[in-house]
Parts: sequence; C-alpha cells; structure tokens
Amino acid sequence: MIQSWNRYPRVTHAQVIDLWDRHAPLPGTDRPLLPHGNGRSYGDVCLNAGGVLLRTRPLDRFIVFDRATGRLRCEAGVLLRDILNLTVPQGWFPAVTPGTQYVTVGGAIANDVHGKNHHVAGSFGHHVRCLELLRSDGTRMLCSPEKNPDWFRATVGGLGLTGLITWAELQLIPIANPALVTETHSFATLDGFWDLNRELERRWPYTVAWIDCTARLGRGLLLAGAHAPMQAHPFAWRSRSWRFPLEPPISLVNSLSLRLFNQIYYHLPRGKGRQLSHYQPFFYPLDRIREWNRLYGRRGFFQYQCVLPPQAARKGVAELLQCIAASGSGSFLAVLKTFGDKPSAGMLSFPRPGVTLALDFPNRGPETLALFRELDAVVRDAGGGLYPAKDARMPGELFRRAYPEWENFQRFIDPQFSSSFWRRVTGEA
Ligand SMILES: Cc1cc2nc3c(=O)[nH]c(=O)nc-3n(C[C@H](O)[C@H](O)[C@H](O)COP(=O)(O)OP(=O)(O)OC[C@H]3O[C@@H](n4cnc5c(N)ncnc54)[C@H](O)[C@@H]3O)c2cc1C
Repeated sequence: MIQSWNRYPRVTHAQVIDLWDRHAPLPGTDRPLLPHGNGRSYGDVCLNAGGVLLRTRPLDRFIVFDRATGRLRCEAGVLLRDILNLTVPQGWFPAVTPGTQYVTVGGAIANDVHGKNHHVAGSFGHHVRCLELLRSDGTRMLCSPEKNPDWFRATVGGLGLTGLITWAELQLIPIANPALVTETHSFATLDGFWDLNRELERRWPYTVAWIDCTARLGRGLLLAGAHAPMQAHPFAWRSRSWRFPLEPPISLVNSLSLRLFNQIYYHLPRGKGRQLSHYQPFFYPLDRIREWNRLYGRRGFFQYQCVLPPQAARKGVAELLQCIAASGSGSFLAVLKTFGDKPSAGMLSFPRPGVTLALDFPNRGPETLALFRELDAVVRDAGGGLYPAKDARMPGELFRRAYPEWENFQRFIDPQFSSSFWRRVTGEA
C-alpha cells in the first residue's frame, strides 16, 4: 500500500503505474490521475483514493548539466540526493533544499518547498528556470517565468494538479566545498528568539530554530550556517545511517519521552563559537535514521505546520505554544523559521512573509484532532495558513481563506487530475 510519510490516512488506489519514459503519453484511463514522487509529503496531497497514482521515481535521468553555469536539466523523478552526489563534487549546490534529500524534483516543485534560507533565497520554485508539463490531452507545454508564465505560476506549488512535470531545469548555486560554517545559539524565552533571529538573519543565509515545546518559557536553540569559504579545511565525512528497527504497536512518543528528549537535546554539549559541518548533518539530520516515521506506531502521526503573517507572528506563536503545553502534547522537533518578503513563486505556494512553526504529533485520534481545532483558531485569527504538504485534516474553509488564489487556480487543473487532498479541501465529490 502506498502511504505518505506520516502514514495517515491509509487509502486504496485503483491502480499504481510506474512511469519510465518521459516521451510517452499519459496512460489511458477514465479514473482521476495524480503524480506521486517519493511520498515524502505528510497527509493526502500525494494520495488519490480510488484513483490512479503515476509514480515518477523511474523518471530518474539527468538530461544535461552545465558545470560552468550550474544549470541542471533532469527528469522529474530524480532525487535531490542524486543531484547532490552529482553536483557537490563539481562545486554546485541546490539553491533551496528542504529538510530531507529524499524528495524528487517534481515533488519539490509541486509543493514549492522551502529551506532554511527562505529569507534570502525564497523557495524552490524561484530557482526553476523552466519545466515541461504533460497534460492528459497529450499537449506538452514549456513553462517558465517568461514562457506561459501563468501555467508556470500554477504548476509551481500546484500540488500535482495541473498535469505531469516530466523534466525541469534548475539553477544551482556555486560552493567552494561540501562544508558549512555554523553557529548555535541558545535562547531562554520566545522574546529572546525574536531578537537573536533578527540579528542572525542579517548575517547568515541559513537559519532555523528548535523550540522546546515541553518548557513553558519557549526556550530553544537557533542554528545559523553558511557555505564554507575556500580556505576551510577539507575533512573526511562518512555517511552512516541506521534503520528504525521495528513498528511498535503504539507510539513511542509520549509526554515522558518528549520531556526527556527535549531536556537532553537542549543541554547537549555543543562546541562554542564557529564550527565546520558537512552539509549532510546540517541540512538532513533526520535522514540518518531511515524510516524514523515508524517510531509513531501503526496509527501514524500528524505534522502541523502553519505560517503566520509578520504583524501577528509574536502573539500567534506564543498562543500556539501555550495551547500545546496546556494539552500535554508536544513534539520532538518544533521548528521555527522566519520567511522573507520575496513574493511567492506559485499561486498556491505556502511560503509567504512571516514566520512558520512546524510540529509533529502522534495520532491519538479525537484528542489530537481537538488540539488541532484550537490551533486552527489561532492560525485563522492571525490571518495565517497551513502547509498542504504537511496536512491530512485542515478544514476546507481554512484552506480557501489562506489560499485566495485557489479559485483562479482551478482554471489550470487538468480535467483528468485530482487528489484526495483537493477533493477534501474543496468539497468536490
Ligand atoms: C523529514 C522531512 C523533512 C521535510 N522538510 C521540509 C522542509 O524543510 N521544507 C518543505 O517545504 N518541505 C519539507 N518536507 C516536505 C517535502 O519536502 C515535500 O512534501 C516534498 O514535496 C516531497 O516530495 P516527494 O518527491 O516525496 O513528492 P510527493 O510527496 O510524492 O508528492 C508531493 C506533491 O508533488 C506532486 N508531484 C510529484 N511529482 C510530480 C510531477 N512529476 N509532476 C507534477 N506533480 C508532481 C504530487 O502529486 C504531490 O502533490 C519534509 C519532509 C520530510 C519527510
């Protein structure tokens, strides 16, 4: 059974078809189609209950890489990991990367993913030079910010609904070596975070904060980084990973394990001042534990990721953390990050000016859903929104309010494409 990363909801597809040939037409069927990358979304944005999933992973070929300019054209099923393996030794790096390298290029475009550098670089879509869109009527459209720009804006962040992206061309950024210079700062309260963050964002291209949401004060750690200069000493890096060994019948995440983890994590000895880090642990710490999603047991888990506009951010984040603390729930990783002012690359892009907070919760059924209703109320009052890539239950009304271009977007949906997410939030049958 194909699942998304949080293993909820569990749905059945009429058919799952592997795509091998980017030149081939879409398979003929009268059921709704949806592309599926590597299933690293949480929730139902990459699921199509009762319909057909088009698995793009076999579309994994590089088409052309110009090492002088850092332009890479590749098929949509290529993983970010494969791009890194090809281009880092040649001095190029993806301009934007999410917190896992196991996403496909097509999936990264369709969710217009963001990284730790949104305040300087925007989102993934800002670095896509062009892409090919294959529609169910057989047409192939070249889309870029200059050519068919409306289609480009609809397809970036288009949740796989405008057609199949067969290939894309990305602009990478130059690096001197695989290392990053990093600094970690602690803060004791949320107020401390805002001051520190403002200062660090001025100086560092990558910033992200971890909040201890089991502590009432909102203490945490702020990590800042930049690609290392030429003079940095090269060092050996051995990529080691291990697999989470079992699927426990119930979640191993509970208030005791959370409190313990957060205490230990906050107090872990960290080197003072600047450090050198390989890019892998800096960008992809969770990738070292394969299938860590099994930790949450058979019922799976939810991620709750919201964005709040700048004027409502301070109050809103404090209220969200208060609700979570009062509920006795928490998260191993509560991640806080500010987005910059760059206008969104896509009509339905999640990143927008403000602050984003992301937390994982075990699925405890009605209790968890009740907490989310409280969090939704804070997000709604603040004029914020939730991230479709991390959602399995937001009310349609909240989606439509946070994504006002959704109606205009409907013009670009391929008549044969649909998803469980889209039917849920628009109320379509
Ligand atoms: C550990 C972890 C950390 C993460 N960190 C971040 C983060 O920091 N920032 C962030 O933004 N996200 C983050 N994510 C979410 C992840 O980056 C996105 O969900 C990403 O889109 C998943 O890509 P995928 O290839 O697995 O696509 P899927 O999850 O399989 O699909 C995602 C969407 O893309 C569409 N799609 C896939 N391929 C195509 C195609 N060829 N043509 C058209 N549509 C297509 C699908 O229909 C679906 O709507 C994280 C996920 C995990 C598991």
